Amino acid sequence: MTWNLFDRLLASAASDQSICIENDDGTALSYAELAALSGRFANLLAKLGVGPGHRVACKVEKSVEAIALYLATLRAGAVYLPLNTAYTPAESEYFIRDAQPTLIVCDPKEKAALGAITDKAGGRIETLDQDGKGSVVDAAAACPSEFETVARAKDDLAAILYTSGTTGRSKGAMLTHGNLVSNALTLVEQWRYTSDDVLIHALPVYHIHGLFVAGNVTFAARARMIFMQKFDAERILSAMARATVLMGVPTFYVRLLQSPNLSRASTAHMRLFVAGSAPLLAETHREWHDRTGHEILERYGMTETGMITSNPYEGPRIPGSVGRPLPGVEVRIADPETGTPLGVDEVGMIEVKGPNVFAGYWQMPEKTAAEFRADGFFITGDLGKIGRDSTVQIVGRGKDLIISGGFNVYPKEIETEIDAIPGVTESAVVGVPHADFGEGVTAAVVRTPGASIDERAILNALSGRLAKFKQPKRVIFVDQLPRNTMGKVQKNLLRERFADLYAVKA
Ligand code: ATP
Ligand code: MG
Repeated sequence: MTWNLFDRLLASAASDQSICIENDDGTALSYAELAALSGRFANLLAKLGVGPGHRVACKVEKSVEAIALYLATLRAGAVYLPLNTAYTPAESEYFIRDAQPTLIVCDPKEKAALGAITDKAGGRIETLDQDGKGSVVDAAAACPSEFETVARAKDDLAAILYTSGTTGRSKGAMLTHGNLVSNALTLVEQWRYTSDDVLIHALPVYHIHGLFVAGNVTFAARARMIFMQKFDAERILSAMARATVLMGVPTFYVRLLQSPNLSRASTAHMRLFVAGSAPLLAETHREWHDRTGHEILERYGMTETGMITSNPYEGPRIPGSVGRPLPGVEVRIADPETGTPLGVDEVGMIEVKGPNVFAGYWQMPEKTAAEFRADGFFITGDLGKIGRDSTVQIVGRGKDLIISGGFNVYPKEIETEIDAIPGVTESAVVGVPHADFGEGVTAAVVRTPGASIDERAILNALSGRLAKFKQPKRVIFVDQLPRNTMGKVQKNLLRERFADLYAVKA
């Protein structure tokens, strides 16, 4: 039995006239057209010498061609490697040297910069340009649309996806066809996804969220996606009149809440709002419920594991909880140092095992070995706890844990308190070297426009609410928090910025 994702999710798509993708400009692509386009691209890839094991890197804007190229790479038995379109040439060089792709497909504007890299690092480069002569679109048009998809085993590589780089340099996560297929089928079932669903797709397609969660789940159900190039609250709100599902990062929901047009009426046609990739504030969850009558479904996952937990489709979705492990996925909490499993409600390292867990980091055998326990559990790097009812709560990233004066301080707890203070829009709490305490709890705070709250007022507000060792030593006001392209707060940049705050003596 083949595990090739294309065969598993899109077998018989060639005769399916239903719409798969609607574009911003009003054009649409049916499943039959997607199958045909991916067949043409797969023939072209084969002609260019791409076969099993080869990496195809794509640095292209979100488009039906980008999706067809992804599927074509898998159909050809090769490994898909999407590159963030925001990467600078220097950043791209790192990934290209690391992954050594056989072929790079890029937008025409990138050709000179990436070409200079392939001149040194090797690999062939082609452009993707809808109208351009000599582009892969043009070359694929001359290829047949039928292609016999190459059979793949469950453990064969399908993609190398680089992690978001929130905590440091991105790592290439090797994902198998088995990983992708099992996650897509599980989510279809969990989220009651059907061919009647219409998904508002405003995420990038180089990241696991937009490509493997939103994309693969939609393919598996033969549902429809409304593609939007970028987040635009008003466009999303008007699309809700005919859509059924929105998948987004928490920032989407925060920004939608700022629109006066968000209401029960404007969301009446929708059945599901999903949030993930970063923590959803309990306040956002509650406000969304008050304004729309819908409860956001929060789920937890990572590039290395796909989705791990999800709030229930039916039943309460508790703010601050990421729900229960998905079927077939084992989650445990362990002592970060020893790996000894911990009990109910004890905070420790979240560890995961299951068909969703990746095959390791690309060309990093030592790191891979260090991130797995002997019994096969993957060490996520996230701290959390599991309640009596098996629901998982994320406490924060292990790397962000602050040890101040010998006490463990979980930044999320302090951020939740600060964010609730009137005059504060958001905050991020980090540990900074401190001569007396080891690490000093330090808060970066964004003021609400027009508010005049100062450091003293924040410290006063916290004094009755948090134990002394958890209270920030300093509060620094910033215009905005540093975020990566997935909207995640880059705490390492804050730590660097505040490094000298407490003038640690050498
Ligand atoms: P890097 O590993 O390169 O530092 P990253 O961890 O942000 O970057 P991703 O794989 O995109 O890269 O993100 C996975 C991480 O996102 C998880 O390990 C977790 O810390 C966070 N995350 C995902 N979903 C949630 C959620 N619902 N609540 C809190 N955190 C979440
Ligand atoms: Mg990570």
